[in-house]
Amino acid sequence: MRMLAENGIATPDDLAQVVPPAARLARGPVAIAECFQNIPCDPCYHSCKQGAIKEFTDINQRPQIDFDKCNGCGTCMSRCPGLAIFVVDAAYGEQEALVKLPYEFHPLPAVGDVVTAVNRAGQAVGEARVVRVQNAQAQDRTAIIWLAVAKDLMMEVRHCKVKGVG
Ligand code: SF4
Ligand code: SF4
Repeated sequence: MRMLAENGIATPDDLAQVVPPAARLARGPVAIAECFQNIPCDPCYHSCKQGAIKEFTDINQRPQIDFDKCNGCGTCMSRCPGLAIFVVDAAYGEQEALVKLPYEFHPLPAVGDVVTAVNRAGQAVGEARVVRVQNAQAQDRTAIIWLAVAKDLMMEVRHCKVKGVG
C-alpha cells in the first residue's frame, strides 16, 4: 500500500490506520496521532500519564494509541516535535465538534475569534471559532488551540489562520 502522497499529505489509507472507531469518537475527546514516518522519536509515549500510548519496542516505531485509555487531555500534543497529534471531540455539541491543534505561529488567535479553518493541504475549508488557547509554560512554546468546527469538518481541519494575517 502506498503511504503518504509525494507532497507529504496523509492519504485516506494513512488516516484509516490512525483514526479511532466511530463509537469511540462519539464518546468524546480522543487523540489522533497523524505520524506516518518511522523516525527516531518517542516523546509522545513518555508524555502520556494515562499509559494510552503503547510502549515503543523500537524508537523508530510509529505511535499506537489505546483509544479506550486516552482521555483527550492533549498533553502529548505539545510534546510532539512533528506537530502530528490532534484531539477531536465529536461529542462537543449538537452541530459542532471540537478540534484541538498544535499552533506555533504568531500572533496567536484569541478566544472568541472566528478564524479560517485549514485542512492538511493548507486549503481553507470553512470557519472555526476559537474556544480556548492553551499557552502555558507547560506547552513549551507549542500552543494548543481549541476550535469549534462544523461536525462534518472535524476530520478535515488541522490548522487555522488568523484572519487578516499571512
Ligand atoms: S491526549 Fe492525553 S491521554 Fe490521550 S494519548 Fe495524549 S497524553 Fe495520552
Ligand atoms: S512525538 Fe510526534 S513525531 Fe514523535 S513519534 Fe510521537 S507523534 Fe510521532
